[in-house]
Amino acid sequence: MPDLFRTISFRLTLWYTGIFSISACVAFVLFYYLAVSTLQDQTDQELLEKASQFSAVIQQSGLRGASNLAVIEAQAAGEKLIFFRLLYPNGEVFASSHMSYWKDIKVNQQLLDLLVKKKSHVFDTRTVDNTQKARILYAFVARNVILQTGTAMDLQAKFLNAFKLVFVVAMAFIIGFSALSGWFLVRKALLGVDTITRTAKQITGSNLQKRVPETGSKDELDHLANTFNQMLDRIQTLVNSVREMGDNIAHDLKSPVTRIRGAAEMAMIQGDTMDDFYAMAADTIEESDRLLDMINTMLVISRTEAGESGFQFQQVDVTRMIQQACDLFVPVAEDRQIQFTCSVAHTFYVNADIKMLQRAFSNLVDNALKYTDKGGQVRVQAMQTPGENIDIQVIDSGPGIDPRFQERIFERFFRAESSRNSPGTGLGLPLARTIAQAHGGDVRVKSTPGRGSVFTLTLPYCNFQVI
Ligand code: ADP
Repeated sequence: MPDLFRTISFRLTLWYTGIFSISACVAFVLFYYLAVSTLQDQTDQELLEKASQFSAVIQQSGLRGASNLAVIEAQAAGEKLIFFRLLYPNGEVFASSHMSYWKDIKVNQQLLDLLVKKKSHVFDTRTVDNTQKARILYAFVARNVILQTGTAMDLQAKFLNAFKLVFVVAMAFIIGFSALSGWFLVRKALLGVDTITRTAKQITGSNLQKRVPETGSKDELDHLANTFNQMLDRIQTLVNSVREMGDNIAHDLKSPVTRIRGAAEMAMIQGDTMDDFYAMAADTIEESDRLLDMINTMLVISRTEAGESGFQFQQVDVTRMIQQACDLFVPVAEDRQIQFTCSVAHTFYVNADIKMLQRAFSNLVDNALKYTDKGGQVRVQAMQTPGENIDIQVIDSGPGIDPRFQERIFERFFRAESSRNSPGTGLGLPLARTIAQAHGGDVRVKSTPGRGSVFTLTLPYCNFQVI
């Protein structure tokens, strides 16, 4: 039960019922006061008509006629229902109807004084026998003659009693009805939320296929279901890529470790001389270095992506950086008999961590030379673009990249099938792109299979010169 009290359905129903009931209550009260005031106006009107009647009789038959009229009128209407008193402005009563029922009603001198001042009429409301209310009128019916007449407010009392009954019954019905209809409406509206909750419960690490059914009604819940499904799509993609990356890491770590183990085993079985053990140690160091390099690269990518790179930005002459890096690759190009040209005509400056920038650029040149066959060409060029950027391009005449993989090659550990025979870890391009992005730039590729590739490293142009 306490759980039910905490649900939105319960709280909304409570609000709905509360607002509905309070509104009904306010409507009832307004109606009551309107009806009571209408009834009172009607009573006042009737009393004023009686006063006019007395004025007319006094004019025709004098005070004696009025005295008789008081008795006759009260008898006709019922002496418990109405009374008449004729008096002078000083309060002296000179005639009245039968007053035994009305003995509580005295002449109110204050009202008489007020009447004398106003010269027309004054109303008053009094309680008779501590139970019933009476409406009293003081009015001049002739010069120096005042009529005090009062009538029991019977109708109001009856109306109030009937109204109380109607009010209790109607309010009970309204509260019941609003609670039921509120609960029904709220449950209907929140049905979509239940569906989303159920779907979320069914989703586990191994079952990410479940989706919330979308109604297409374009309401808030449909929008929520749609957003939830989109989030699930993204989670599924992420989980898949994490799994894939895990597989790749396991695979890429397995090969060097297997090689290290193989070399150690061979040395144990066949190694007789110190030279054999020396060679095994050298192999182990080489493989370990490759492993460490891979792990370090992964760390650099992760830290850079998390914004914890610790880059040291400074003004960098890109043209010089490109030239120096290219000089280092000239022997590799010659070795592979590749025509390697590096032509950067202008001097460009960027705000960068020079070591990281060198690493990103070197990866692109290294790939171009690695994947281009003997006799091919690799060209490096740099230019300023209209968007205030510098594009450094590494263009090769290599095998090109299948369009299906042109975005995937930037994923960690992805290596195209055709490249598996070349040495590599599948971390060079992700590292280059992460570094470029940390500098406010990017790395993109345009490639035609069989004709070659163009890798573009874009960096924001820096509008100053190194002194
Ligand atoms: P690695 O070169 O160590 O395999 P990279 O992340 O540098 O890893 O490159 C990922 C993949 O992209 C490579 O395995 C290769 O398939 C493809 N690739 C990169 N550069 C080129 C290029 N210049 N020409 C053709 N394929 C390339």
